[in-house]
Amino acid sequence: MPTIAEHRSPAALAVELLARHSISPNDAGCQEVLRRRLVKAGFMTEVLNLKRVNNLWACHGTRAPLVVLAGHTDVVPPGPIEDWKHDPFSQKIVEGYLYGRGAADMKGGLASLTIAAENFITKHPDHAGSLAMAVTSDEELSARIGTGHVLRFLEKRGVQIHHALIAEPTSHHSLADEIKVGSKPGALTKALTTAITETVGAETKMSCEGGMSSGLLFQKHGAEIVELGLSKATIHAANECVKVKDLFMLTAIYERTLEILLKVA
Ligand SMILES: [Zn+2]
Repeated sequence: MPTIAEHRSPAALAVELLARHSISPNDAGCQEVLRRRLVKAGFMTEVLNLKRVNNLWACHGTRAPLVVLAGHTDVVPPGPIEDWKHDPFSQKIVEGYLYGRGAADMKGGLASLTIAAENFITKHPDHAGSLAMAVTSDEELSARIGTGHVLRFLEKRGVQIHHALIAEPTSHHSLADEIKVGSKPGALTKALTTAITETVGAETKMSCEGGMSSGLLFQKHGAEIVELGLSKATIHAANECVKVKDLFMLTAIYERTLEILLKVA
């Protein structure tokens, strides 16, 4: 049995996810790993699969505002294996870096989001508002039957998302040196920039440019969206990797953001 510390390690969870061959739009069992953990932490979960795409919705609480942590379990193909120093699906930690297809985009960030959500709910079960996770296996191809399907389902139910924090890789030289904000920065942007300054001791740069395929869908739904994730340096390339230390720091940033946003002193 793993100890509690190991059980709540974003690095251990990232390793578990990276071992699964979830090339778009396959999920390869990643979401079931997350779903079981989130149920244990007290979330209500729903599986919203459509065609070959797996989608997971997990929610804690019924009050406004609703904060959604969003991510994807699918990855782009690894490309020629001979270009890799280590097998892209048998994850290796070498000199403080975790290697594997999806380490940065975005199984590492998704592991950090999940551990942050678990820690937050465990420490603050009576938080203000509601916290949810939306996970899809249809991000790298097109977001329509992934995030789009989840949002149509929520709209039918009358659920309004107020803030969406997405774990797409946005960092350049150091963790959280840049975040991407949508068209209407609000309480989430403010909480996140405060959490970054407190955690890494430096200010982040806000950018508004490009990308954000699933982000645009959340924005159309009416949510404030912000993307913050791991280093972009090696995404979609051979030898994709992240600093193990960054997985823990990113978890701390996400968790602190939730505390500020969902009114915990
Ligand atoms: Zn991605």
